[in-house]
Amino acid sequence: MTIRLPIVDAAAPTEAQPQPRRRHPEWLRVKMPGGDGYREIHGKLRQLGLNTVCQSASCPNIGECWNHRALTIMILGDICTRSCRFCDVKTGRPLPVDLDEPRRVAAMLAPLELTHTVITSVDRDDLADGGAAIWAATLEACHRAAPSMTVEVLVPDFKGALHDVDTVLDADPDVFAHNLETVPRLSREVRVQARYDRSFAVLRRARGRGALTKTGLMLGLGEEIAEVKDVIDQLGDLGLTILTLGQYLQPSKKHLEIARYVHPDEFADLKDYALARGIAHVESGPLVRSSYHAEGQAQLIRRLQADRGQIGFASLGKHLA
Ligand code: SF4
Repeated sequence: MTIRLPIVDAAAPTEAQPQPRRRHPEWLRVKMPGGDGYREIHGKLRQLGLNTVCQSASCPNIGECWNHRALTIMILGDICTRSCRFCDVKTGRPLPVDLDEPRRVAAMLAPLELTHTVITSVDRDDLADGGAAIWAATLEACHRAAPSMTVEVLVPDFKGALHDVDTVLDADPDVFAHNLETVPRLSREVRVQARYDRSFAVLRRARGRGALTKTGLMLGLGEEIAEVKDVIDQLGDLGLTILTLGQYLQPSKKHLEIARYVHPDEFADLKDYALARGIAHVESGPLVRSSYHAEGQAQLIRRLQADRGQIGFASLGKHLA
């Protein structure tokens, strides 16, 4: 899983343990969600019984994103088999797989007439294929129901099983994303059951298969800027297409504490660094999450696909219209 951020301040006091309130810096303040677009999507999700990471993660961008008709659907339930120390999604024994979920996801997304959407999932280490078959079925249903919508998949590491990664790639995602989340030194502490090298191998597989690849890192977990630049160097060498860098925020007192708030100027410097290393698109800022402004990348995706001959230029014109 990926994104975890509270709308409320980190380390907020509780009745049981009152403590001085820790305020986020000015650049992390967001408005309470509302608006017609927000309410429309909220209603449709409830009607179809679907989950979003926007809600499960208490993402601070939910008002802005939903009003721009951007959302991140979360498939394979809302209970994760892993216990990453940054993540607020419930951990436990998941419910059985819902074979009708791919159809309902497509039924929800098609009428919204989106140019781009992001789909993610909980980790399903309880399933032999890690959920890869449902991933593929969901992608295929979305391609059928909304052929002009680009679909970005933000997948788990499938415990390093590259044949499961291939199952997803065979269903032709427009962007294949898997988050490294943090630098190698902190990976075990932050992600517990995951491994940096295994995640990097997932990205390498997707890149090797010709996919447009994307990854994200959270900053403020105790990493050094030099370590972040080392990761960016590796990603540049890999030929990564899209990188996101955002501030880690502590979802609750049970989660890892924020080591520091990274200043917006540092995010800007890292964006310049990553672009200079050849990464085509970089979203870098305190409120950036792996799917933040993803809908704005649809044109870039179609242009890159056309450059690679994956779609014809006539099709590109339709998507850029
Ligand atoms: S940034 Fe991603 S998770 Fe957050 S509200 Fe936007 S689409 Fe949802």
